[in-house]
Amino acid sequence: MVRIDGSQGEGGGQVLRTALALSLVTGTPFEMINVRAGRDKPGLLRQHLTALKAAEAVGAAEVTGAELRSTRLSFHPRALTAGNYHFAVGSAGSATLVLQTVLPALLHAEGPSTLMLEGGTHNPAAPPFDFLEKTYLPLLNRMGPRVEVTLERPGFYPAGGGKFRVNIQPAKLQPLHLMERGRVLRREAVAQVAAIPFDVARRELETVAGVLKLREDQQRPEELKRAFGPGNVLRVEVESEHVTEVFTGFGERGKRAELVGEQVAAEVKRYLDAEVPVGEHLCDQLLLLLALAKGGSFRTLALDGHAFTQRETMAHFLDVKIDVREVARDVCDVTVRG
Ligand code: AMP
Repeated sequence: MVRIDGSQGEGGGQVLRTALALSLVTGTPFEMINVRAGRDKPGLLRQHLTALKAAEAVGAAEVTGAELRSTRLSFHPRALTAGNYHFAVGSAGSATLVLQTVLPALLHAEGPSTLMLEGGTHNPAAPPFDFLEKTYLPLLNRMGPRVEVTLERPGFYPAGGGKFRVNIQPAKLQPLHLMERGRVLRREAVAQVAAIPFDVARRELETVAGVLKLREDQQRPEELKRAFGPGNVLRVEVESEHVTEVFTGFGERGKRAELVGEQVAAEVKRYLDAEVPVGEHLCDQLLLLLALAKGGSFRTLALDGHAFTQRETMAHFLDVKIDVREVARDVCDVTVRG
C-alpha cells in the first residue's frame, strides 16, 4: 500500500487525481492523508468526490473516506473495466478534471469506452473544454489512442450545468517528442458572455488585441444563451505547426474586463516570447502522459508548482526518470525515460 501525503507540493486536487489515475493503471492501492491540505477549502469537494467515485466505478475499487470534506481516504482497485459510464459532478465543479482522472486507465482497458460527463466545462483553475479538445487530446491522439469529445452544453463557472460526451479507443501509448512549436499559423481571441453585458466581451477583446496586436478578424465576441449564465470566458488560441495552445481567463464580479484581458494577454505573450511549444498548464498534464508512455521530451516554460508536484506524485507509482534542464531564461527541456 502506497502512502501519500496530499499536502505535498501544490497540495491540491491534482495530487489526488494523479494518484487515482496511476493506481488504476498500475493496480497499486494507496492511502492518502491531508487531502487538498494546501487549499482554502481542504478535503474532498464535489469535483474530487466525483473523480473518486468515477475511479471507483472504472476500477471496481474498494474505497474508504469517500465523503464530502474528507481529508483521508484509501483506494484499492480490483479490476479495470471498459464500458459506458455517466459521471455527474452535481455542481459547477470541473467535469474535465473528472475525465482526466479516469482517462489514463481507460486508455489501458481491454476495449473502447464512452463517457457522459456533467458539471463545469469552463472553470477557473481547471482545463477548459476548448483546451481539452484543441490542445490536450490532439497530442494524446498523436501517441496512439483515439479520444474524441463532443460538447453538448457548456457549463460555465459559477452556474455549471455543462455536459460533454467522450469516445475512447484505447491503444498502447507511444512516446511523444515536442521540442519545437514551428510557425504560428493562427491566433484568435474569443470572448463569450452569457447573461452578462455584451460590452464586457468587447472590452476584453480590445485589451487583448491591443497587447497582442490582433486584427479585427482575429477577435470574436460571442453571446451565449442566457440559460448558460451568468458566465464570462475569454480565450486565446495559438495554432502553430506542431501544437495548438489555448489560454483562458474568467470574468468575476468586481473584476474589470480589462484586467481579465491583460492577464490572458500576458500569459500568451510569455508563451510566444519564449518560443516554446508547451505552455504552463499543458506541461504538468503532458508529463503524466509521457510517464505512462515511458518516454518522450518537450520544451516548455520554467516549470510551475503543478509540474513539480506531478513528478513527485508519479514517483509513488511509476519508475520513470524525468530530467528538467533550463536551456535559456524561461525555457526548459523536459525528458522522460522509462
Ligand atoms: P489542482 O489545482 O491541483 O486542482 O490542478 C489543476 C489542474 O488544472 C492542473 O493540471 C492544471 O495544469 C490544470 N489547469 C489549470 N488552469 C488551466 C488552464 N487555464 N488551462 C488548462 N489547464 C489548466
